Amino acid sequence: MPSPVPRNSVVIVGAGISGLSAAWELSGGANGPTDATPRIEIIEASEHVGGLTGTREFAERTVDLGADGFLGRRPEVVTLARELGIENQLEAINASGASLFLRGKLYELPTGLILGVPTSPKSLRSLRGLSWRARRAARRDYYLPRKFKVNGDVSIGAIVRAKLGEELALQVIEPMIGGIQAGRIDDLSAQSVFPALVTAAKSGGSLMRAMAKLGAAQPGPSNAAPKSQGAMFYSLQSGVGSLATALAEQLESRGVVLRRSTPVTALRRSVDEHYPWEVDTASTTTRANALIVATPAVVTGQLLGSHDARLKALLQIDSAGAVMVCFHVPRNEANLPSHGTGVLVPLATPWHDGESMMITAVTFLDRKWPRLMRDDDCVLRAHVGRIDDIRWEGMSDADLTTRVAKELATLFGSWPLESDSFVARWPNGLPQYRVGHEELVRNAKDAAGKLRIALAGNAYDGVGIPASVGSGRKAAQHVKTFLDA
Ligand SMILES: Cc1cc2nc3c(=O)[nH]c(=O)nc-3n(C[C@H](O)[C@H](O)[C@H](O)COP(=O)(O)OP(=O)(O)OC[C@H]3O[C@@H](n4cnc5c(N)ncnc54)[C@H](O)[C@@H]3O)c2cc1C
Repeated sequence: MPSPVPRNSVVIVGAGISGLSAAWELSGGANGPTDATPRIEIIEASEHVGGLTGTREFAERTVDLGADGFLGRRPEVVTLARELGIENQLEAINASGASLFLRGKLYELPTGLILGVPTSPKSLRSLRGLSWRARRAARRDYYLPRKFKVNGDVSIGAIVRAKLGEELALQVIEPMIGGIQAGRIDDLSAQSVFPALVTAAKSGGSLMRAMAKLGAAQPGPSNAAPKSQGAMFYSLQSGVGSLATALAEQLESRGVVLRRSTPVTALRRSVDEHYPWEVDTASTTTRANALIVATPAVVTGQLLGSHDARLKALLQIDSAGAVMVCFHVPRNEANLPSHGTGVLVPLATPWHDGESMMITAVTFLDRKWPRLMRDDDCVLRAHVGRIDDIRWEGMSDADLTTRVAKELATLFGSWPLESDSFVARWPNGLPQYRVGHEELVRNAKDAAGKLRIALAGNAYDGVGIPASVGSGRKAAQHVKTFLDA
């Protein structure tokens, strides 16, 4: 009698949103497991599941420590919430708009900008706080556009500086992009981060006119993803961090093995024909037919670099650290602008003694999410950290909080120096999609596929939660093709 074929086994390394979503898809997604479902083991280094997402109780509210919302225009998270049976937890954003801190004052950002790029002379005129030279330089693009040839991948900065001028690029576009990536426009790939800008630049004429035409096509690698109807942004009633908890619970009830506090130390090739991989931790080895590696790119490069130089190249994807300093203050002591969900602070905004401000943005959490709104008090968070600003690393939580509170007093005219607060640090939280990113990722995925490995995570297909869910599910579909072959 022929010996029975051993059960397929897939190991997923990393239990961030990408790794958990991969496990959900591999274990049958909405339909659940079948006899053909492989044994699935997720191995996570931390005791916490959800990676860069998480929540805590603060000021009698559940607040997010990392991501606090996700784009509704992309369907991945809304679909997943429906499949998990938690769609009743979805909470639509309650406000829109933001202010920009320019020359010592807050100015309301007008509508008609796409990631800071004006789409008409009217939207440019409404962009207050800029010098007349900056307006003149940008207006020229509409009537007498400068030439800019897009050769291969170029930076966002190269396009917008050439077409719209230095000041608009640095004072408006940089803080908008920086708010998403904590990166610099002169380093970030236009193709990977803002593909609509490349399309517009390639049209050869006015960037503003071309962006206006593209209008509906939103920026970001999300362009390739299907669109959905509904609110612009969503959160969840128990915080975005609760998505990972819900996923983990349901995966475990499906029989998926989820190991916490267990770093993977090596991914080794095996001579076993059926199980070509061995996954090592400090105390165990798991055999697998295929792997999904959903760790940060640098960890993936370390684990897989010895198998192929194109995987070693993942070590080049560096990440910016981000810190969220969250405050709870009586409403009558918070002198906030009447409009919008937050404030953006341009790079190199002067502070004292030749230093620049550390805050890059402020989010009025309770204006965004109705569940956090109270009559008498409010919660907001200040964002600190950029790829080239790591001053926070050398500061204690207490010193950082004091510094940020003083900066808030400058932004808003006054701010209580003593209040409830906490600091959430995310070292290496935001991967940088530098010029050449797409090619590097394509090569790495190709090399991984040849080894029966799928890569998942925020370093490849977009930095947000929807992109991470999509990346995980795609990786699982890829692995199914290895198992079926
Ligand atoms: C401060 C901040 C705010 C953000 N805000 C938003 C937002 O508002 N909206 C939005 O859409 N997105 C936001 N994002 C982005 C979003 O949080 C991420 O894109 C997403 O959570 C990434 O998930 P991931 O699974 O790809 O990676 P990660 O969450 O980094 O998961 C990787 C996992 O791998 C584990 N790991 C590492 N090494 C090993 C090892 N050797 N063995 C086993 N496991 C290992 C890690 O512990 C981690 O759990 C924000 C990010 C940050 C940092």
